Amino acid sequence: MELAIAGRWALVCAASKGLGKGCAEALVAEGVNVVINARSSALLEETAEHLRDLNPAVSVHTVAGDIALAETRQAALAACPQIDILITNAGGPPPGDFRDWSREDWLEAVNVNMLTPIELIKATVDDMAERGFGRVINITSAAVKAPIDILGLSNGARSGLTGFIAGLARQPQLAGRNVTINNLLPGSFDTDRLKSTQKQVAQSSGQNYLDVRDALRLRVPAQRFGTADEFGAFCAFLCSAQAGYMTGQNILLDGGSYPGTY
Ligand code: NAP
Repeated sequence: MELAIAGRWALVCAASKGLGKGCAEALVAEGVNVVINARSSALLEETAEHLRDLNPAVSVHTVAGDIALAETRQAALAACPQIDILITNAGGPPPGDFRDWSREDWLEAVNVNMLTPIELIKATVDDMAERGFGRVINITSAAVKAPIDILGLSNGARSGLTGFIAGLARQPQLAGRNVTINNLLPGSFDTDRLKSTQKQVAQSSGQNYLDVRDALRLRVPAQRFGTADEFGAFCAFLCSAQAGYMTGQNILLDGGSYPGTY
């Protein structure tokens, strides 16, 4: 299928590896010019080179820095001549017990996983509406639909974003101008983040890492973890011209793990 987005510009946050990189790869393969961001510049530049090799016809710019900081957001927005596609993403908050979390821990999670995407959306959607095309994808988590007890900071902060998006996406001045805003909810994708979470589980329970990994894999009805490539492909479709009638949705990509009918 021709996604009809070649030549557009995308800002893909937190994209030097993992799910963000998967999204950037899929967009670049479709001919979309990208600005990619991550904190560590060495891996970010490596990823940018890889993207240029993937499609020499597109422009690939990099902005190194923490996307939760206003100056990084400003630099990332300024690096795009215009933003047609915005993929919000950042690291997830750490696991733990809410009894141990301070007010600062909560403010950090809310800042990174709720307020940062909202700031980026605020800076971009009205211009998208004026041009009559815009796609915003927020990478959130399956934990928004089926909370994970040790990920309380993520459950809470991301649910705040989800509630806000539900209202914003339905504003006629956005939805009526071909600007869609959707959330992609990853279940278990085989990225460094997943591996480090599994290592923590193994360490804290005294189990072998590979045994923990295998047990978690077998809990997924698909019997495997997802790949960043398939996450990226889905993201690219949501950014396509054809996906213009879908907005305000929370889309689970979890190999069937969510147990509910609806
Ligand atoms: P990952 O493989 O660890 O990659 C994270 C990427 O984000 C890296 O490029 C990292 O680069 C960048 N990054 C992290 N914090 C950043 C920040 N503050 N500013 C800019 N860049 C930042 O993680 P992932 O698995 O792709 O996860 C992406 C998001 O999806 C996370 O929020 C995660 O919680 C969520 N998620 C993932 C899964 C899964 O199964 N993988 C499941 C549910 C939810 P630097 O470290 O250099 O900044």
